[in-house]
Amino acid sequence: MDSPFSLARNQVFDDSEADVILQSSDNVEFRTYKSLLSLASPMFHGMFALPAPHKSDSTDEMRDGLPVVQMAEESTTLEKLLMFCHPAHAPTLNTLDEIKGVLATAKKYGMVGAEERAARFLRQFVVNEPLRVYCIAWNFQLEEEARLAARRLLASPLLPRRHVKELNYVPAIALHRLEEYHYSCQRTAKTVALAYGWINKEALIRFDAGLLCYSCTNGGDMTPVCNGHSISARSWWIDYMKAAAVALQERPCGATVKDPELLNNVFRKAAHCTLCRESVFTEMTEFCEIFAREVDRATELVNLELEEA
Ligand SMILES: [Zn+2]
Repeated sequence: MDSPFSLARNQVFDDSEADVILQSSDNVEFRTYKSLLSLASPMFHGMFALPAPHKSDSTDEMRDGLPVVQMAEESTTLEKLLMFCHPAHAPTLNTLDEIKGVLATAKKYGMVGAEERAARFLRQFVVNEPLRVYCIAWNFQLEEEARLAARRLLASPLLPRRHVKELNYVPAIALHRLEEYHYSCQRTAKTVALAYGWINKEALIRFDAGLLCYSCTNGGDMTPVCNGHSISARSWWIDYMKAAAVALQERPCGATVKDPELLNNVFRKAAHCTLCRESVFTEMTEFCEIFAREVDRATELVNLELEEA
């Protein structure tokens, strides 16, 4: 009769020197070493420190002379987890579901090293799946990954929010903390756009309509700059800063001020002026870089609270 148990396809787990069998919930055998498991997990360390059961006690617990440990995990998760515990192998985790499975199992067995290594794979999903990463990081108390994901989420409005399945598994406080953070960043970024103290005189003077650029004067209003100086800023630049403040209220990150739609409006307005149309593209491109850096610098100081209450 065929054995109901299949051997792991990965040859790493078919070593003749193995001294223990881990059996997954879908009946796949992983032949591995007590020493490796004991080093990786205090739970396995404790289990193997107990006296071995006598062979005649239970046919289920010994196979080919090796003790069998029944695991609740499926073979796909178990294989990745055991690879993380093996010093000669560097497994990769290709989906967020794989990462979640390994994190949950590593946590269950107290495998701190495997948990840390699996957590690093979360970072490659921050750009495209920030909300899913945030929820997973919250659940596994991975602060660094939660902060990276929350920061990435500043590039989108808080609402409307696409539903992701991980939202079903985080407490309301996780979302509340994320919203608090987003609101704080909104306020901070908006202040950058409306108060010009951070712009040095050399960067700002280019937007001074001065006495030459009549068509771009800002109704004579003077704009205070650093060190008590004021300039008569070009109207299209003032309009841009106001529009940027509105946009930052929704998406409080540096990339927002470089939004092509925002800049095209500036170029269109400046094109009406014979003096400004020559230089607006270069000047605004340079200025946007400084502006974006300042927004990111300011919002970087905003703290994301990760405590439950
Ligand atoms: Zn002009």
